[in-house]
Formats: sequence, C-alpha cells, structure tokens
Amino acid sequence: MSSPVAFIGIAIMSCVMSVAVLGSLLQARIPGLGRWCAGYVVLAVALALLLVQRDAPPAIVTAAVGVMLVLAALLVVQGFRQFFFLRPSFFPEYLLAGAVVSGFVYWTFASVDLDARVSLLSAFLGYVRIAVGWMAYRFRPPGRPRYSYLFVAVSAILGAAVHVGRGLAYGFGFAHQTTFLEATPLNTAFVGMGILTLPCLSIGMVMLAHDRMAERMERMATIDELTGTLVRRAFMARGKTLLDATRASGKRLSIAILDIDNFKTINDRYGHAAGDRTLACFAAAISKGIRCTDLFGRLGGEEFGVLIADASKAEAARLTDQLRASIAALMPQQDGRAKCTFSAGVAEFGQGDTFADAMARADAALYAAKDHGRNCVMAAPATSDGACDVCEAVGAGSDVSLHPLDSQAKTV
Ligand code: GH3
Ligand code: MG
Ligand code: MG
Repeated sequence: MSSPVAFIGIAIMSCVMSVAVLGSLLQARIPGLGRWCAGYVVLAVALALLLVQRDAPPAIVTAAVGVMLVLAALLVVQGFRQFFFLRPSFFPEYLLAGAVVSGFVYWTFASVDLDARVSLLSAFLGYVRIAVGWMAYRFRPPGRPRYSYLFVAVSAILGAAVHVGRGLAYGFGFAHQTTFLEATPLNTAFVGMGILTLPCLSIGMVMLAHDRMAERMERMATIDELTGTLVRRAFMARGKTLLDATRASGKRLSIAILDIDNFKTINDRYGHAAGDRTLACFAAAISKGIRCTDLFGRLGGEEFGVLIADASKAEAARLTDQLRASIAALMPQQDGRAKCTFSAGVAEFGQGDTFADAMARADAALYAAKDHGRNCVMAAPATSDGACDVCEAVGAGSDVSLHPLDSQAKTV
C-alpha cells in the first residue's frame, strides 16, 4: 500500500475517533460542537470515497469528494465561529466556497487538470486553517488559561502552512501528479503533514470544549444564580485578596453588610417566588449603585456584603446611606408592590484586623441598626471592645421602597 493511501486510512480513523470523542460532549450543548462533529463525518465519508475509488475514480465521484471536502472545512470554521459566539455564516466565505467548487467541477469535467484541483482545494483548506487559527488567538476568553487556545492557533497555522505550500507548489507547477494519491515523495510529504494536523485540531477542539465546561463550573461555584452576585465563599476569597492589595498600597478599606428588612414578611405575604424576584431586583439595584472598584456578594439569604475600596468608615457609611437613598429613588414604591428597605452595618479594616474581625464588627453594627428601628446605616466602633450603642446613626429615615412584585403576588 502506497504511503498516501495509508495516510488516508489513518485520517479516516482519526475522523471517526474525533466524532466519537466530540460526540460524547454534545450533551454539554457547547456552541459549535455539533458543526465540528458534522464536519468530521463529512470528511470521513469524503476520504472513504477517495480511498475506495483511488485508482480511477469516475469524474462524478471526484467532484463529490471535492464538494464534501469544501463542506467539511466550512462546517469546521463555522463551528469555531459559533464556539466564540460569532455568527457562524460569513457571506464572503460562501462566495469563496462557491468559486472553489466551481473551479473544481470545471477542472474535473470540462478541462481535466488534477494539479489545478489540488492547488485550489489546498488554498481553500489553507484559508480555513488561517481563519481558525486567527479566531482561536483573537477571541480566546480573557481570564482563562491560554494553553488550549494557543495550541489550536499554532496547530491551525501549521496546517495552513502545509496547505498553502501545497497549493503554491501545484499552482506554480513545481509539483505534478497523475492520480490524487500518487506516491511521489512530495505528495507523500504533503498528504502526511496535512493529515497529521487533523488529530491536532480535534485534540484542540476537545481542549476548548473542556475549557468551556470548566468555565461554566467555575462560574456556578462563584456566582449566585438568583442574584448574579458573588457567592459567600468567592466574596470572602476575593475580599481577602483585595484587603492584602489595599494594605500593600497603604489605602483604606471598609465593609458594609446589608440585610433586607422584614424580608420574611414579603415571602409570607406575596410568596417565595416574589421574594426571589425581590432579591434579584435588590441585587441588581445595588450592583448598579456601587463603584467598579467595590466588591459585592451575597453572604446568605437576604444578607449581602459590599467591600468599599479606598474609603474610611465615615466615607463608607455615607456611600452606603447614599445607596439606600438612590435605591429608593430608582424604585419608588408603587401601589400593590412590596415595600423593601435594608439596614446596614459598616466597619473599616484596622491595621491588625483579619477579614473576619472587621466583618464581625460590621455584623454587630447591622444588629444595632435593626435595634435602632431598621432602614438605617450604622457605623461600627474601631475595635470589637467598643459597644455597638456607640455606633453613629448615619442615615435613619424615610421608607425606601424597592421594586416590583408583580401581580402574581400571593394573597393571604
Ligand atoms: P429582619 O428585618 O430582622 O432582617 O427580618 P427578616 O424577616 O428579613 O429576617 P429573617 O431572618 O426573619 O427572615 C429571612 C427570610 O429570608 C427567611 C427566609 O425564608 C428568607 N430567604 C432566605 N433566602 C431566600 C431566598 O433565596 N429566597 C426567598 N424568597 N427567601 C429567602
Ligand atoms: Mg432581613
Ligand atoms: Mg438576615
């Protein structure tokens, strides 16, 4: 068996394995995966046809193989666009594919020219690899490990170099062959290298799919599904990092703990689903009100934490009180909608404070705010030895009403 024929056999097996592995991930509903699988299926069928009819393929089979190779390449590049949340179809690409197919058909039926067909197809496959490599490099998500994206980019560009080299060699007449799988040294080298890049690309696809799944899991472990804020564990972890950075830069840091007032009543009166909507609206309003340098998280139930960067206790208390007032302005109480206010305790991180120390003082100030009649912000004393009754009431006051509990509200 000549080498190119052996390579085609290996390529078919590689496609089948790729479909098996990528297919096992289909349930994860990762964008683009379906097209990648379809691309490999079409490629496997095209290569199988090529292998079966390798000696004297009828023109119709040759044309079908050409069309399928173009289709497989299109599916792969469109799969990459979907993976990176881009529109899969790209009109100029259809024009290019149409031109390649037309040329392929012309040099198969009208003016038989194998070198021209090889050159044309190689140039198109080269373009597809360049497009894939560029996307993997350009659209790799920030904050994710770069390895898999660079792996795909490098594999694709190496593949592109092989295809473009082949296209140029046959296009400018440096190489010539009489059958597609002729075992000339140059053809063997080109087919071999081109086919070697296939498993590299499918390994890269699997790596990307796994990275997307890992990203989803990390997001689920970090972000609270209902409110879109950091979960307690992530808030504490990032908060400790922020505290270290703040200390290193000699700046100040304060924490506010917010707790929705009488939230149980909202649940009891309007139902748990309405309570959930209230929590989501509350979190959205607070997120809008804080600065991008601040950190916001759900500590549990209807209790939230805000780390206020570069702020003394007094400044943080004032900002928290403004937050309370701005939420009232954003979402005024309307007839039939639940009233929602929050109380807050604020503390500043002292020199020797651990994260838990300042949090405990803010929590104590929150309890003092509740005792003070709710809907107010209290600033904690500088050390836990101080009594909470020395907390300064920064903004007791008018009812703040917040958001929409819709007409499906339960009546009791
Ligand atoms: P206070 O002003 O003293 O804070 O009173 P409160 O009613 O807000 O506090 P309490 O601790 O008595 O009740 C908190 C309620 O929050 C009880 C719990 O069912 C409810 N809750 C906690 N998590 C959720 C949630 O995710 N969704 C809904 N709808 N309710 C929740
Ligand atoms: Mg509460
Ligand atoms: Mg509470």
